Amino acid sequence: MTATEKSTGNAASGSDFDVVIVGGGAIGATLALQLERLAYRVALIERSTPSFASTNPERVIALNYGSRCHLEKLGLWNDITANGAGNIRHIVVTEPGNRGRVDLDAADETPAMDELGYVVEMGQLLAPIYRRLQESTVEMIAPASVRRFERREQQVIMQIQRDGQASEITAALLVGADGVNSQIRRQAGIGVSGWDYNRFGMVASVSCEQGHANTAHECFRASGPLAFLPLADGRFSIVWAATPAEATQLLAMSDAQFIAALSKAAGSATMRKIGAITATSRRANFPLELTIANSFALPRLALVGNAAHTVHPVAGQGMNLGLRDVTALAAALDSELAHCDPGRSIVMQAYAEARRADTLAVAGFTECMVHVFGSAAPGVKWLRGMGLQTMPRAKRLSALLLKQASGLAQMREQHERQNGVAA
Ligand SMILES: Cc1cc2nc3c(=O)[nH]c(=O)nc-3n(C[C@H](O)[C@H](O)[C@H](O)COP(=O)(O)OP(=O)(O)OC[C@H]3O[C@@H](n4cnc5c(N)ncnc54)[C@H](O)[C@@H]3O)c2cc1C
Repeated sequence: MTATEKSTGNAASGSDFDVVIVGGGAIGATLALQLERLAYRVALIERSTPSFASTNPERVIALNYGSRCHLEKLGLWNDITANGAGNIRHIVVTEPGNRGRVDLDAADETPAMDELGYVVEMGQLLAPIYRRLQESTVEMIAPASVRRFERREQQVIMQIQRDGQASEITAALLVGADGVNSQIRRQAGIGVSGWDYNRFGMVASVSCEQGHANTAHECFRASGPLAFLPLADGRFSIVWAATPAEATQLLAMSDAQFIAALSKAAGSATMRKIGAITATSRRANFPLELTIANSFALPRLALVGNAAHTVHPVAGQGMNLGLRDVTALAAALDSELAHCDPGRSIVMQAYAEARRADTLAVAGFTECMVHVFGSAAPGVKWLRGMGLQTMPRAKRLSALLLKQASGLAQMREQHERQNGVAA
């Protein structure tokens, strides 16, 4: 079906828009572009004025190969990486104080890959998406927010607040892409499962004597993991899961004290690889929690990205998971049935079913990493050590981890599901 056929065949035209997306983060904004390509009339409501200035410390995202493919299909990848990206060719997992390590190498993937993932700044990701939005037919409503909404049988009626003025708009489908504390999710009465980790993710960018050699390091410590991600400019971006007390102390330290604490936490195996840490940026903390919406969709309403699920950043999966929501929702909406009415229950059910298993699998994998490596029980510590020493010989397990890290496993499953092939 061509775009023109789709737009003329749209029975939801009684509403102002076919789809209104609330939340213009990377997930909501990408979804808006993807649905515009399907000839839907889309509005994107964002509460703040979009700004993509580089921050200090950089807020960076590791995207896997699957996400790169998605962004390439939207014609965004070249612009996102125009000023470079950190390439992850190797991942090294260690536990300070425990012998053994796991090495994952892009060349070991079948077929061999150049990279397992890419590290980009959040602004670097968002700026090209917003440039493309400006050239599109997507109506950007910002800064604005939805005060309340009502799901009716044929449409959703939203009261929006913009420039101190209240107005009303209607759509066949409302998508909540408004992050972990989603107001859309709350107002729809969708509960969440999960917990607060009682940890903060401290981020900073650091320079090391030996550079990064395109390697990401994951150091598991009892209080939480510490990740070093290679940046395009040769530095590492770190994400350090710290207890509230640790996080407060780390923020208050001088740069020299912080570098000393970081070097100790990384452990000698990692420090031998990266060399002495010579400089650090400012630091910032983000609270860490696991939140999974009890339902990803209702008639006329869908949740995507962190509004649907927020996972621990230990495996760098949140954004990748959100981009797979975008692919799945676009696939559910790319049918004649959906074009007649994108908010109907059967379309929403198809989306929700498509996303549940992947989300639970990623949340489960992430939880496993947090708990198996976070336990100080002597038996578990011994088993961990054995696991780290045995893994290099367990080729099938390494291959499985590689497929998870690169996003290829999930990409294949999503492709098979959309094409009706049994997994
Ligand atoms: C320390 C840390 C490191 C991470 N590292 C990685 C990584 O390496 N790889 C990875 O894949 N993921 C990572 N993540 C997860 C990733 O950052 C998130 O999954 C992703 O940013 C979620 O995007 P989103 O668009 O769904 O939500 P958000 O980025 O939270 O965007 C939500 C948007 O909605 C807007 N909004 C909120 N409320 C309203 C409202 N009421 N009305 C209108 N607009 C509203 C907000 O202003 C915002 O623009 C990390 C997370 C943390 C905390």
